[in-house]
Amino acid sequence: MENVENMSSERPIRLSLPSKGRLAEDSLEFLAACGLQINKPNPRQYEANIPNLPDLVVLFQRPGDIVVSVRDGSVEFGITGIDVYEEHKGSNGEAMLLHDALGFGHCNLALAVPEAWEEVLSVNDLRQRVANLGRSLRAATKFPLLTGKFLQVHGIPHTLISAEGTLETAPAIGYADIISDLVSSGQTLKDNRLRALQDGVIQPSQAALIANRQALRTRPKALAMARQLLEYFEAHLRAIENLAIFANMRGSSAEAIAGRIFTQPTIGGLQGPTISPVFVRNGEKNWFAVHIVVQRDRLFRSINELRSIGGSGVVVAPVTYIFEEEPARYAAMLQALEIKDAENS
Ligand code: AMP
Repeated sequence: MENVENMSSERPIRLSLPSKGRLAEDSLEFLAACGLQINKPNPRQYEANIPNLPDLVVLFQRPGDIVVSVRDGSVEFGITGIDVYEEHKGSNGEAMLLHDALGFGHCNLALAVPEAWEEVLSVNDLRQRVANLGRSLRAATKFPLLTGKFLQVHGIPHTLISAEGTLETAPAIGYADIISDLVSSGQTLKDNRLRALQDGVIQPSQAALIANRQALRTRPKALAMARQLLEYFEAHLRAIENLAIFANMRGSSAEAIAGRIFTQPTIGGLQGPTISPVFVRNGEKNWFAVHIVVQRDRLFRSINELRSIGGSGVVVAPVTYIFEEEPARYAAMLQALEIKDAENS
């Protein structure tokens, strides 16, 4: 299936983004928040670029098609849902997950039954119900592979009904008994008098970065792009969980202030606090500035701790990026590809 022409080292590296659906807008927003704004010169064209990554061409495809294109190597990278990745990834391992938690597009592929099936709350109950039906269960879905596997593993005889449009009406219309569909808030199920089974989650999903394995192995440019994308994504995702705090504090020395900070549980910072002298206009010598990074959900605890040890003028600022020595998922990718780090340093 490999397309030799497409795999040519001449062609620029490509990243496919969802062209429609819930992931489309959120992908652009996510990339912009990472500092990778998309520039789409012509809104009708299916091609765009990212000024901060000039070697990359951005394409727009349907989420399922993105997986197929990454698999066959016509594009090197894609952002799509784990649900469609798992459904369409195939068995040859050519499409691989580089980042499985981009933090948006959360949903579950789940089984839902008509509300009228009052006694069916779990998959076990469903098996019982099907046994009483005396025929196989008709399940409507856009995810036949994952749904079929799930029903098979749970010993439920079934017939899959592939549907393209709105699935939720299938049981009411009568061409299916149950559905297997993406559920986010659950409102659509409710509106259609359906109910998710307690243990009926087939595949938890959110947006992910996927890549063509062969391209990473054979094209240094693709490997370098994987690193850049993962650098931006990881540094951004780590940053949004944190806040930067600056405070002034009086003390006899930087060491004395560090000692006070380390008596507190929350404000130790990532490595430890940065403490620097403040040059006060009147020449007073015992003022210091403390700079720490804290988890966003611990902000008020941190401010109280700072106040309790004499902090004043506390300034809180968002963090754009937090870069570690190397993106953890890049290291994991090299390991999965059996590429030694030294070869790329
Ligand atoms: P909700 O009513 O919020 O549970 O959303 C359910 C509807 O939105 C169904 O039609 C799903 O197919 C669709 N949906 C929910 N989450 C996603 C997602 N992350 N990606 C694509 N479609 C989704």
